Amino acid sequence: MSSASSQFDTIIIGAGLSGLAAGIRLAHYGQKVCICERHSRIGGLNSWYSRKGMLLETGLHAMTNLARRDDPKSLPLLKMLRQLRIPLDALQIREQNYSLIRFPEKTLKFDNHFQNFEASLADTFPHEIDNFQRLDRFIAEFNEVNLNHRFISARRQIGRFITDPLLTEMLLCPLFYYGSAVEDDMDFAQFAIMYKSIFRQGFFRPGGGIKALLDLMEKRFIESGGELKLNCKVDEILVFNGVASGVRCANGDELHSHQILSSAGLPETQRLSRQKTIAAPGNLAFFETLAVFDKLDGHDETIIFFCNDEKLAYRRPETPVSLNSGVICLPHNFQFKSGDFVPAPMLRTTVLSDYRTWHDVDYAATKSRALHDVLKMTGGMTGVDMNNAVFTDAFTPKTIERYTGRLNGAIYGSAEKQRNGLTEIEGLYICGTDQGFLGITGAALSGISIANLHLLLT
Ligand SMILES: Cc1cc2nc3c(=O)[nH]c(=O)nc-3n(C[C@H](O)[C@H](O)[C@H](O)COP(=O)(O)OP(=O)(O)OC[C@H]3O[C@@H](n4cnc5c(N)ncnc54)[C@H](O)[C@@H]3O)c2cc1C
Repeated sequence: MSSASSQFDTIIIGAGLSGLAAGIRLAHYGQKVCICERHSRIGGLNSWYSRKGMLLETGLHAMTNLARRDDPKSLPLLKMLRQLRIPLDALQIREQNYSLIRFPEKTLKFDNHFQNFEASLADTFPHEIDNFQRLDRFIAEFNEVNLNHRFISARRQIGRFITDPLLTEMLLCPLFYYGSAVEDDMDFAQFAIMYKSIFRQGFFRPGGGIKALLDLMEKRFIESGGELKLNCKVDEILVFNGVASGVRCANGDELHSHQILSSAGLPETQRLSRQKTIAAPGNLAFFETLAVFDKLDGHDETIIFFCNDEKLAYRRPETPVSLNSGVICLPHNFQFKSGDFVPAPMLRTTVLSDYRTWHDVDYAATKSRALHDVLKMTGGMTGVDMNNAVFTDAFTPKTIERYTGRLNGAIYGSAEKQRNGLTEIEGLYICGTDQGFLGITGAALSGISIANLHLLLT
């Protein structure tokens, strides 16, 4: 018999963006909800930390899915805010300056006005502009949020419209890096989601940074009656006769509920609930460096998606870092207003990494070599003298695994997504990364959708 204090309508595993959003939604409807978070801080993959008196964000390059006040209410960001009862103004949207897709032969430029992207494309690939516009119309009409569709290769679909292989790679590069758990390809539905959220809608930052957004979400959750347990790692999902019955935490406490929503990942959740079939963990892990400067003159671009080689290789490398391609973000280059949290001038570089190469090695030496190589490449690409950096840091796949429990440090989770959120255990559901919606807005919408679909019924 459990005491009333350990009995909940829904228990959520993880206080990342998806878990928090689901928690707010359920608490708004009067459910008794508890979120268990293994870490001492909320945010999961997108959190923050302090070093040398600076607040540094672990994940935030930019939020996708920009929406402005008079945009259609159906846009994902407006839908997300409406469902969380957060006014648009509270987010203090600060738009990007502009971003680049830089390959050895050609560069494309885009900002939050789609016609500028079209103009750049018409300039750089004049023979492809009609094809691109046909692809754009096809994507506009595609229903990417159907939860029951099967994997369709984005490469194959793009190939029906675009004939120049270089343009195909250049379109895929940002969408791979911001949201594909599949090597060298992505599901066309995911491609359409990311295409709309990056090229059609655009990039922005909350004026207060990720911490302000997390603080806002935590406040909403607590004010709506939710219970947040930090430093509360779930060690086991309890199942009785094929039905979820609660969780056992690392400190031995048991919490009870017939509705468990897990944002820990699909294979991670299957392990916690001792399921017979365990999905393969993700293969794609990343190495992320930060280099902070006193000032960074001559650079006003926000994000550079780059490929250094003839061919884009979006796959697990066999080395601690791959310099083939990646992302360089300058998070201080948004249209800030006074009173905002403006990040220190910095270059954040993300490249692919083989998580296997971080085990059984001299970790510190491997990390230091990888950091050196990535900073050197970043300096070479941007013309910035990296010796002027006043602070550098790096996250390896092991950092991600240690802080969030994601197997292999795979930020985008398993290649196998559970779009309908169901598991083989009654009452146990998946949300977030492995439900298939990625990124900050995507993860939050995933939490909301699965809460609406399965957990508000009772
Ligand atoms: C370096 C980096 C840069 C990124 N940049 C961007 C960006 O610029 N824009 C963008 O939109 N997205 C970005 N992302 C991706 C984005 O952060 C994620 O897609 C999103 O935050 C995923 O949210 P989630 O809720 O699905 O998962 P998570 O954030 O992983 O949340 C899951 C939570 O569950 C907790 N947990 C796991 N296991 C347990 C357990 N057993 N018990 C209790 N708690 C548990 C974890 O600690 C974690 O807090 C970035 C990610 C990284 C790592």
